[in-house]
Amino acid sequence: MAALGLAPSVAAQSSVASAPISDVRYDVIFTAAGATRRHVTVQMRFTSASTAPVVLSLPSWTPGSYTIKNFARNVVNFSADQGGTALRWDKTDQDSWRVFPREPGAVGIRFDYRADSLTNDGSWARSDFLLFNGTNLFHYPEGSDLSFPATVTVTTEPAWKVATGMTPGGERTYTAANYHDLVDMPFFVGRFDLDSAQISGRWLRFATYPTGSVPASERRDVFQALNRIVAPQVKVFGDVPWTTYTILQIVDPAKSGGSGLEHVNSHVDILAPEMIGAPVLISLYAHEVFHVWNVKRMRPADLVPYRYDEPQPSAMLWISEGVTDYYADLSMVRGGIVNARGFYDLLTDKAVEVASLPPISLEDASLSAWIRPRDGTEYVYYPKGALAGLLLDVIIRDATDNRGSLDGVMRSLYQSTAPGGRGFTSEEWWGAVSREANGKSFDDFYARYIDGREPLPLDSVLRLAGLRVGGDEQREPRLGVTTTQDSSGFVVTQPLPGGPPLPAGLESGDVLLAVGGIGLSDALWLEKFRVRYARANDGTEVPVRIRRGAGDQTVKVRLGFVSRVDPRIVEDPRASPKARQIREGLLRGTTRP
Ligand SMILES: [Zn+2]
Repeated sequence: MAALGLAPSVAAQSSVASAPISDVRYDVIFTAAGATRRHVTVQMRFTSASTAPVVLSLPSWTPGSYTIKNFARNVVNFSADQGGTALRWDKTDQDSWRVFPREPGAVGIRFDYRADSLTNDGSWARSDFLLFNGTNLFHYPEGSDLSFPATVTVTTEPAWKVATGMTPGGERTYTAANYHDLVDMPFFVGRFDLDSAQISGRWLRFATYPTGSVPASERRDVFQALNRIVAPQVKVFGDVPWTTYTILQIVDPAKSGGSGLEHVNSHVDILAPEMIGAPVLISLYAHEVFHVWNVKRMRPADLVPYRYDEPQPSAMLWISEGVTDYYADLSMVRGGIVNARGFYDLLTDKAVEVASLPPISLEDASLSAWIRPRDGTEYVYYPKGALAGLLLDVIIRDATDNRGSLDGVMRSLYQSTAPGGRGFTSEEWWGAVSREANGKSFDDFYARYIDGREPLPLDSVLRLAGLRVGGDEQREPRLGVTTTQDSSGFVVTQPLPGGPPLPAGLESGDVLLAVGGIGLSDALWLEKFRVRYARANDGTEVPVRIRRGAGDQTVKVRLGFVSRVDPRIVEDPRASPKARQIREGLLRGTTRP
């Protein structure tokens, strides 16, 4: 079709390279007055060698949080100037600003950022506090190699504190060797609690907001627990790669559960109040700290270097996240936070979760992380990746009579790929696995369980480690309908052709309001329904409140039952001496010399 006479547009090209810039400095201004508006003000200053346009981009995501966030949408009041006189600017794409210098020399940009997102990868201001991620606030020259050093100065109230993993370089001034490090070191600014302890011979700082959210007795317990879980991790890799590690932790009643985001020498946790003192918090710390090695320093080559302007999918995310989760569990048992039974329960939880989800290959699940699929498999690469790590560990130990282990794979890939930061390919991963297992081939394992969708062979492999998968049979009541959820509620759908018909009393299009007296507006209705009718007889009738057309009515529906076996990982009393030794090796982090 005709283009209505429009000339081909150069400006529509998404990637316009910037003229080179140098002496890059960032100022972050956060005062009590600015905090009331939930804005943080950012100035970026640099030297331009010519009058060629400078194109400055903001990242669209934060490494570790694999989803597009478009941080540029939070920018307001953007301006550019040279010597105090405003400069002309426009945008070249949704997150790139093009500035036109009048002459060579010092150029500045300035803007406010709306800091109202309490997420690990976001920025969040309160009246006395700011969390920010560099990916949100710090522009980079489009098309540049990002190896430029940068300086950050924080201007804030004199009584307020600053905590970050960046290297101090003067009064509230911090330096980073390159842009990747710069945006990998989030900041706390304001009033918060901060203390530190020696863990594995290096300093670990614990910064918590709001003040008092982690009382003194809990802080002592946290440091003790960290001491226990970090030591087995250091043993895997043989080094402590940080000078100072900082935990940046926010507790907020609006959050449920907890989440963490890893960085090269810090991590950010956002927690519900009930997470404080809960054992699961220690396992969150264990996961995030293990990332210091696995993903921050050794990671899939697809993620090297990070590209900030587009999704960067990797089929090996299950290694970065799932294997990290396996090591979080290993850290818990090897550090004595849980006993062997507790460790098997952590693995069992993962097996139960995976068994309840649609079959999906670990590579496909890894690639799909960016779009957060809605069929339940959004995060399956964590538990299923952890179980795949467990199976690889057992198979390697079995093939080598417990002389090799997954620890050996992690250590060898870390030593061969971390120093140059080059990343490992799939061939390198499977090569390292095979070498550690005395040359055993993993082609079949890869084809069936990593590239393929076959269920993981938990029972047969775990028997090699003196474990087996038992099962608790559950009898589960079923109404016998499928529903879709929309603004009107749970709507009964038409049965599939050839499938079982709708139970008598219900029609497709009925909106379910209550089942057995339990309102469907109750988020836990399904659990309550299962508990209430678990022991009911076949054919029991339950009252179902529905909306059909304009009116509400109650109909009687006969229940059906299915039995479901939840896997449970237990010790095998008939295990051979070799299998027992492998089991001990897993639990203690040891191999035979
Ligand atoms: Zn993770």
